[in-house]
Amino acid sequence: MEKLLENQVALVTGASSGIGYGVAQALANAGAAVVLNYHTHAESAKKLADEIEKAGGAALAVGADVTDRDQVESMFDACRARFGTVDIVVANSGLQRDSAFAEMTLEDWQTVLATNLTGQFLTAQSAVKEFRRRGPRPVSKALGKLICMSSVHEVIPWARRVNYAASKGGVLMFMKSLAQEVAPERIRVNSIAPGAIRTRINKDAWESKPEQDRLLQLIPYGRVGNPDDIGKAAVWLASDESDYVVGTTLFVDGGMTLYPEFADNG
Ligand code: NAD
Repeated sequence: MEKLLENQVALVTGASSGIGYGVAQALANAGAAVVLNYHTHAESAKKLADEIEKAGGAALAVGADVTDRDQVESMFDACRARFGTVDIVVANSGLQRDSAFAEMTLEDWQTVLATNLTGQFLTAQSAVKEFRRRGPRPVSKALGKLICMSSVHEVIPWARRVNYAASKGGVLMFMKSLAQEVAPERIRVNSIAPGAIRTRINKDAWESKPEQDRLLQLIPYGRVGNPDDIGKAAVWLASDESDYVVGTTLFVDGGMTLYPEFADNG
């Protein structure tokens, strides 16, 4: 059976854990050769690359800090050296540095903005340049596909995380403005906005039963998400099945953005 992403090359940043790991697995299962970027936990990215290759796929683990332009460019060089080009880029790297607003340090603010927003800028810029350099390929209707990993917090305000919410609000207009600019070249730029997905970034919210029960009150669909839920969405958004989807955010959140507190109130 033909796979949706056969003969395409995908790059996923922050692929050594959580959502990035799940997205890389899903893209590989859909037939793409995958470049797994890691910043920390190199061993985990390398292990996944080995597993993909043993299963008959193609994968390469590449270390890079997405806040550093030279390292991002070297990551794309490594991608070109091994696979010739890249067709799909998932700008997934992100982190949180939570604190009450008055206590938030400038470093906490800058680290989150640098990783979650500037990291997307640098990754997307290298991606657009590579799509243009390489030109059209018969493997996809689009010249290239860029997926920004956003969050429900691109629209839901989040007290004690103003840095994180500001970064994801920034991703929203970054994605839309870039999509508007490059769509005429048939480059498709979209975002995925996950709700609560079980990864280390939010383990405090699901590790204990009382915390998980509190979290579930925010999720009408009644379960916490898994990286694979995001992986499946990424495969669709990267494939020609979504060829007319341009400049939009796909919320994969079990209904979190339906504001369930209003179901029997307000
Ligand atoms: P995670 O901590 O497992 O993954 C984040 C990844 O980003 C890690 O692999 C980390 O090494 C990488 N990273 C951090 N700084 C980096 C840098 N400077 N350069 C390169 N990589 C860097 O957490 P996750 O939940 O998998 O988060 C992935 C993305 O999903 C993030 O953008 C996050 O904001 C977003 N997200 C997560 C959730 C959730 O519920 N887990 C919800 C909404 C959005």
